[in-house]
Amino acid sequence: MADSNTSYLCATCGWVYDPEQGDPDGGIAPGTPWEDIPDDWVCPVCGVGKEDFEAIEQAPVEQAPVEQPAELALHHDDQPPLVIVGTGLAGYSLAKELRKRDSGLAITLITSDGGEAYSKPMLSNALARHHQADDMVQKSAAAMASEFDLEIRSRCRVTAIDREQHTVQITDDDGAGSLKYDRLVLALGADARVFPASGSDDVGIATVNDLDDYRSWRAKIADSGRILLIGAGLIGCEFANDLASAAFEVVMVDPAPWPLARLLPQQLGFKLVEALQQQGCTVHLGRTVANYKQGHEGFVAVLDDGREIAFDHALSAVGLSPRIALAESAGLEVDAGIRVNRTMQTSDPSIYALGDCAQTQAGLLPYIAPLLAQARLLAANLCGETGSLALPAMPVVVKTPVLPLVVCPPPAGSEGNWEVESDNEGALALFRNADGNALGFALAGNRTSEQQQLAKNMPPLLAVEKEEIATEETSRVSGGETASETASSYECDFCGYIYDPAEGDPDGGIAPGTAWEDIPEDWVCPTCGAGKEDFTVVG
Ligand SMILES: Cc1cc2nc3c(=O)[nH]c(=O)nc-3n(C[C@H](O)[C@H](O)[C@H](O)COP(=O)(O)OP(=O)(O)OC[C@H]3O[C@@H](n4cnc5c(N)ncnc54)[C@H](O)[C@@H]3O)c2cc1C
Repeated sequence: MADSNTSYLCATCGWVYDPEQGDPDGGIAPGTPWEDIPDDWVCPVCGVGKEDFEAIEQAPVEQAPVEQPAELALHHDDQPPLVIVGTGLAGYSLAKELRKRDSGLAITLITSDGGEAYSKPMLSNALARHHQADDMVQKSAAAMASEFDLEIRSRCRVTAIDREQHTVQITDDDGAGSLKYDRLVLALGADARVFPASGSDDVGIATVNDLDDYRSWRAKIADSGRILLIGAGLIGCEFANDLASAAFEVVMVDPAPWPLARLLPQQLGFKLVEALQQQGCTVHLGRTVANYKQGHEGFVAVLDDGREIAFDHALSAVGLSPRIALAESAGLEVDAGIRVNRTMQTSDPSIYALGDCAQTQAGLLPYIAPLLAQARLLAANLCGETGSLALPAMPVVVKTPVLPLVVCPPPAGSEGNWEVESDNEGALALFRNADGNALGFALAGNRTSEQQQLAKNMPPLLAVEKEEIATEETSRVSGGETASETASSYECDFCGYIYDPAEGDPDGGIAPGTAWEDIPEDWVCPTCGAGKEDFTVVG
């Protein structure tokens, strides 16, 4: 029997496997102990394997030990703290990575929300799991502050950055003030967009982009009703599937010719439409809402072909706008996001950015896997290393249990064609260029299990800067180190992480001084999860 107090936390996205609930959409019945889950099962949110989960003793949220108030946590010295703005997955992942490396660093997090640690991706499949907002809280701000020795100011907004004085202006219930920083990290996330149409203000179109949004959306829609879903992208389709599985009547509208049009070939897009229709959703593609009006009961959306759709509540899922205003008004370089270089540094050397608000050299990357790689790299750099961001291909799991999908799109601007192999059980689509090289893929149904294997042969999101690594290695080896330190190092072909035998990988259970040959075969790259076979000797 499963130990009912032990759950398993996905170290990549924060999803929690609770043996009592199982993962019915992934074929794991409620009551299945962790040990009995097949080894090829993957996290339903981000697609990583069982080896990326860690056991946690789960206390109900209301029983979480309330230590000293977060605001009273003490600094270790008189230095201004490292300040992180934002306690989403980016802010908290960075804080945890920093704490692994430096137990004494003073870290202050400021957030305009409640500071609860939760898995944002679960917002779009929470209804099917009968979750209220509070069920999704993994840890309160106070529990995070206590466990990781952080100062957390929740329900506190940063309104300006004074780069000369190294201070941020803040406002909370107690009024306005300022806080000094040593180094500042912006992990501000992105705002959900609403497509404007005449009458939309009267309808009150909702977006669900954080826990507070989910709490008010859940209260608004109660348990039944007609939902107008605007947007058939990744998040829109996830919400459509989730709402329909909880017995809501869903009508989805999108101007694109098929759902997830930028990520899927037409054939797979239509498969998804069929699956959603079988679940009871109505899908209007190639259409947009021209205007809204009051109906006899509820509201009416008038489409651009004149068709009228009656609904009770509207949800917008038409994309995100990175939060750049704070950075822009402080004079930092911004574009679609806050511009960062490969060390995650903005145009001000004391200010960094990561997560949904950051624009890397690979563009905006509003997904969990790149965000976690950024957090690890930035933590290492803030603790004195000089690493450079490199990202392998990172497939994204689309949480539409009605048709499981994994997408790994080709690099933006790639030219080529999709080749699709499909049968009743699933589909594999490969995007190939004129030379026949596969640059991206999409998988459906039973073919989704091929994602990790395929990803290894895809172009990286951001290739390793070879020269930089060679220089770094040379200078390290020529620095007069001990025999064990000069044993061969190995570089991950995907993300550029270097395994240095002198340092080992203590977080992965590999003690300093362990030679490459002595690392167990099931060890994986701590940065991107690639196996030993994906490493190459570098010196
Ligand atoms: C419904 C949904 C489903 C998703 N599903 C997936 C998925 O399956 N797989 C995947 O890879 N990705 C998924 N994503 C994307 C993923 O969740 C995000 O990329 C990620 O959570 C972003 O984290 P973040 O920390 O950058 O931003 P956020 O989580 O938005 O955090 C931003 C933080 O900044 C704070 N903040 C902002 N401005 C200020 C200010 N001025 N002062 C103080 N605090 C401020 C906010 O309060 C918040 O704490 C999904 C997203 C959504 C919305």
